Amino acid sequence: MAQAFVSARVVTPEGIRAAAVLEAEGVIHRLCERGEIPSGYAVRDFGELPILPGLVDSHVHINEPGRTEWEGFRTATRAAAAGGYTTLVDMPLNCLPETTTVPALEAKRQAARGKCFVDWAAWGGVAGDNADDVVPLAQAGVKGFKCFLIYPGCEGFQMVTREQLERAAPHVAQTGLPLLVHAELPGPIEAAASALGGADWRRYETYLRSRPDEAELSAIRLLLGLCRKYGFRLHIVHLATALALNDLRDARQEGLPVTVETCPHYLHFAAEEIPDGSTLHKCAPPIRSRDNREGLWDGLRDGDIDLVVTDHSPCPPELKRGESGRFDQAWGGIASLSVALPLMWTGMSARGFSLSDLARLMAEKPSALAGLDRRKGKIASGYDADLVVFDPEAEIEVSADVLHTRHRISPYVGKRLRGKVIASYVRGKTVYAEGSFAEEPSGVEV
Ligand SMILES: [Zn+2]
Repeated sequence: MAQAFVSARVVTPEGIRAAAVLEAEGVIHRLCERGEIPSGYAVRDFGELPILPGLVDSHVHINEPGRTEWEGFRTATRAAAAGGYTTLVDMPLNCLPETTTVPALEAKRQAARGKCFVDWAAWGGVAGDNADDVVPLAQAGVKGFKCFLIYPGCEGFQMVTREQLERAAPHVAQTGLPLLVHAELPGPIEAAASALGGADWRRYETYLRSRPDEAELSAIRLLLGLCRKYGFRLHIVHLATALALNDLRDARQEGLPVTVETCPHYLHFAAEEIPDGSTLHKCAPPIRSRDNREGLWDGLRDGDIDLVVTDHSPCPPELKRGESGRFDQAWGGIASLSVALPLMWTGMSARGFSLSDLARLMAEKPSALAGLDRRKGKIASGYDADLVVFDPEAEIEVSADVLHTRHRISPYVGKRLRGKVIASYVRGKTVYAEGSFAEEPSGVEV
């Protein structure tokens, strides 16, 4: 049955307005005034509660097939639905096989079938010497490519050297798809390691010093040069250093096709506040200083950072090495699909950002990065009816049972946050409402 989703605050690309969002067969066909809803529509009236476009997370490690004991399609997409995300784009690593060939992509599709509570898509990998797999992967439907300039922290997915990247770059450019890069170079990290000597690896400061800003800066400069040379669309994933913002701004002013993301953990935490031994905070690049964090917020405000995505990267609790608290031995990754929306709104509302900014940074722009911008990421005619009802005035305290991930560990447990996801709809279907999930997964690959 056709539905009308009604609110005094519908967050559209043109602004926030009172409207009824008319949905039929999973698609928004138009917006109208509340009094103009045609007969035959089931009305869902949310009063003053804002309706946002379903969030799109273009940086998620679902880890299935192969490491389903770390996460998996069922658990990740449930956490997503509870968090207001209606589309995930899966990273090509930490799963086995890694998504670096067409058969591996097919294995992933097989693994996802019948398990997804929200829609999903796949990134492919540029890894080692697989340049010849780039065009076939694009033809098979990946949305773009991810590569690492440094060891990715996990056996299997290979980093690329400059030479390997230069072999793959023309193929990527030919596809017109973006190249997403983990931008840290090994040189500055190796230099930092030898300077650390016998430092105490339980201290957060040791970990921070082991991955200096210079590793990100030098990688970004290398990548901007290759972008200029080969003309591929460059996307910098999880920018952690605000020191790179000038270079990135200059590159864009020059006309290079560059986009940039950062993540909630870089915008929420500060190195000064991370307790020694708290390996739940380990991720790479690392969470940096308080001043740096505010620099990243400035980057968001000025438009130098395009989007915010989670880099949801869970692991079994024992891999966090909680008993030793050693940052050098712990898995790097922070999972936040189910809490990223209130987490971001807490920081955004305190700094004068609006719900429109949130929709742009967490739905519209990630959707565009993945080439889904004709059907995902906006409340507009012709778009999928992916909607989130959000209470921006509510307060929540994060507890393990609201994480919904396979492993309920998080540095956010105990945090008081502003904003609460009330319900999520994917193509008009309720996937999450007030703590309950749809009985059957109905997410599809898009
Ligand atoms: Zn990642």
